[in-house]
Amino acid sequence: MLRTTLLAASRSPRSRKLIEQLPPTRAIVKRFVAGDTLDEGVSVTDTLVGTGRRITLDHLGEDTTDAAQAAGTAEAYEKLLAALAETGLADRAEVSVKLSAVGQFLPKDGEQVALENARRICAAAAAVGTTVTLDMEDHTTTDSTLGIARELRADYPWLGVVLQAYLHRTEADCAEFSGPGSRVRLCKGAYQEPASVAFQKKSDVDLAYVRCLKILMAGEGYPMVASHDPRLIRVAGQLAAQNGRSADSFEYQMLYGIRPEEQERLIAEGNTMRVYLPYGNQWYGYFMRRLAERPANLVFFLRALATKS
Ligand SMILES: Cc1cc2nc3c(=O)[nH]c(=O)nc-3n(C[C@H](O)[C@H](O)[C@H](O)COP(=O)(O)OP(=O)(O)OC[C@H]3O[C@@H](n4cnc5c(N)ncnc54)[C@H](O)[C@@H]3O)c2cc1C
Repeated sequence: MLRTTLLAASRSPRSRKLIEQLPPTRAIVKRFVAGDTLDEGVSVTDTLVGTGRRITLDHLGEDTTDAAQAAGTAEAYEKLLAALAETGLADRAEVSVKLSAVGQFLPKDGEQVALENARRICAAAAAVGTTVTLDMEDHTTTDSTLGIARELRADYPWLGVVLQAYLHRTEADCAEFSGPGSRVRLCKGAYQEPASVAFQKKSDVDLAYVRCLKILMAGEGYPMVASHDPRLIRVAGQLAAQNGRSADSFEYQMLYGIRPEEQERLIAEGNTMRVYLPYGNQWYGYFMRRLAERPANLVFFLRALATKS
């Protein structure tokens, strides 16, 4: 119920205005977001790389319905990739892109615009020797996002895709994307989805995650285990061992600000750990999904509100 309310609020312009103006919001956002600017994104990347982490940077933004803004986001990624090269971070840091931020929802030719903008970002990544992963948004975008991924992979075979274990379709998608060279970031899924397309119970989502992981670990691609769930992290390690995978043939991934000690433990054990690091001022939707994932985050937020007022 709480999750549903928070996820509905994540798409409401009225709630957005209200929450963005609350005095303690900024301090709490800081826990999950590197900062507003490219310089802050690169600076936090540099610090985290110094601790043995790899990074995937997200220039925050989503649901764009303005073509100029979509092009501006592609340009922001080009600048980011150039900055990563200049600071010598491109071999440790890649980028994550939401297609809805680069035009997927534009009323006219949205998919084509998103494809072309994503192609610009892939070309910039290739030029500096790093990679791109396409984030996955709500289920109405899955076919379009995977279609664009297939087209881009013809030229950029290293392009990664995110698959969401909570969707009924995802086992089949894992099978399709588990071939040689394929990079799949497997997550549980963060959006409000109907029972017609997605598992609703946490235990069913967890079981689906394990089934998907089995397919990816047995496949010939590069699985990216995006979860903070201790049980699933254990299962991932066991499946990697059963499939004879070395530590450099898959990786763990977590969100910036969540379970940092576990990130360090996995690195100390010799694993690759990549942190998803968002930056930019369009943090509202991302922040609300983090609150929805964990009631304790909301309690913390409300407590901060109460002490300030
Ligand atoms: C690298 C990465 C990329 C992602 N990309 C996408 C994407 O493209 N599309 C998409 O739909 N989803 C994406 N997600 C989000 C994902 O779908 C889940 O919503 C999120 O990871 C929480 O699920 P969990 O696997 O950590 O398990 P959960 O069962 O939700 O959490 C397990 C434990 O992790 C900790 N935890 C989890 N979330 C939080 C939080 N917000 N704050 C504090 N502690 C927390 C808690 O200790 C919790 O008990 C991504 C996640 C990661 C790590």
